[in-house]
Formats: sequence, C-alpha cells, structure tokens
Amino acid sequence: MEQAYFRFYGKLNDFLPPYKRQTSFVHVLKEPAAVKDPIEALGVPHPEVALILVSGESVNFSYLVQDGDRISVYPKFRSLDISLLSQVQPQPLTHIRFILDVHLGKLATYLRLLGFDALYQNDYQDQELADLASQTKRVLLTKDRGVLKRSIVTYGYCVRESNPEPHVLEVLQHFDLVGEITPLQRCLRCNGSLQPVSKESVCDRLPSQTRQHYEEFSICQACGNIYWKGAHHERMQQFIDRVLHHKHH
Ligand SMILES: [Zn+2]
Repeated sequence: MEQAYFRFYGKLNDFLPPYKRQTSFVHVLKEPAAVKDPIEALGVPHPEVALILVSGESVNFSYLVQDGDRISVYPKFRSLDISLLSQVQPQPLTHIRFILDVHLGKLATYLRLLGFDALYQNDYQDQELADLASQTKRVLLTKDRGVLKRSIVTYGYCVRESNPEPHVLEVLQHFDLVGEITPLQRCLRCNGSLQPVSKESVCDRLPSQTRQHYEEFSICQACGNIYWKGAHHERMQQFIDRVLHHKHH
C-alpha cells in the first residue's frame, strides 16, 4: 500500500470536494499505480492536467507513484508557457476546433456565431464523441468529466459555468481565443463555412423585405443556408462586444 500527498492547483480544484481544495492531502493507493490513475480517481480528468511535479521533478502520466511522494498537479497556465517543462501536455494544436457533447447545443451555436469550428449533434454517444475527438484532433467540450477520462481523449475541457453565454467566455479564455473571433464565418445550423455570394445569385430565395433592405449575403458551403446582417445582427454584435470586453451580464 502506497501513501502519497497530492495537491491540486488552480481550476483543477473545481473537481475536488471542498476539504481537498487548495491544500495538500494524503491519498492511499491500494496497489502500485501510474500517477494518472489516482489523479482521475480523485475526480480530475487527465486532459485538464498540464503539469505534474513529484518532489519538484516533472513527470509523465505513467510515472509509478512511490510511497511518500509529494505530487503537485497543475492546470494549463494562461500566462506561462510550460511546454518545455511539462511531460504530460500533448502537442499544441495550431488551429483549435471543437466537438461538443449533447448538452452543449447552445454553446455550439455561440461558438459558431463567433466563427469557431464547433461540431455538434444532439445524438452523439460518449464513445462516438471520444472517437471523433481523437480521430479529428478536436477539443472535446463536455459537462461530463467521465467522458474526458477516456484514455483516447487527448484534448478536452470540462465546462463549469451553467449559462451558455458565460460558457463561451470561459471557453474563449481557457483556450486564449478572444483575439481570434471572426463573426459571420460559420453556419449556425450545420457548422459549414460561409462564403460571400452576390445578391443576384440568391435573390429568388430571399423574403421580399430582405430583398429590399439588404445587399450583402453569405451562403453556407455545406447546407446552402443564406445569411445576411438582418435584425438579429445588432443583437449578435452586442453579444460579440460583450464577449470581447469580457463582461458577464
Ligand atoms: Zn450550413
């Protein structure tokens, strides 16, 4: 039986019961195990772990826990590059794309609104989500930390807040994407990318009011849905402004 002392930092504490937060505590292992096992048994999904130090030394997920180890577990730091130190961080993604679980449909729409590639279907099963995330190197966003613990999931984040709009802020801040917002680039309905089209080419598909008042149109390359800066556009712009200014409301 091994005994190790664990301490979790930053947002990883969200996964722990209150008495284990922001403090060192002892954890007993019934049998020798790789450090990833007790971390996940304590509730923290591995894709959120960015750095593990054992007595000050950086280790990887398969490090075998020794009796008396002092283990510090850190989340991703937004302001600090630990890629040279970390032995658990995967290859950074050059272009972040998402896949979302069935409970996050509104978040998917918001992400698309802001121009991010957000794959979502309201009937994805957990295995399918994990497989797709792994095969397509997408970041799995979920409210269910269990699916993040599947070993094939490399990139993932467990969404904490409960309203869709703060979710967006939380995700953009976590992945440092606020500067990469490009509105009106994604189809809200299917996640396809939008291309500008001439008014003539879509004229016969427009409501007559729209035909009278608008000149600029985009079309979804995948499903053919047409977009223009209609009445909802101002509300959308306000939403984007709120996001850009990091404001909750
Ligand atoms: Zn579409």
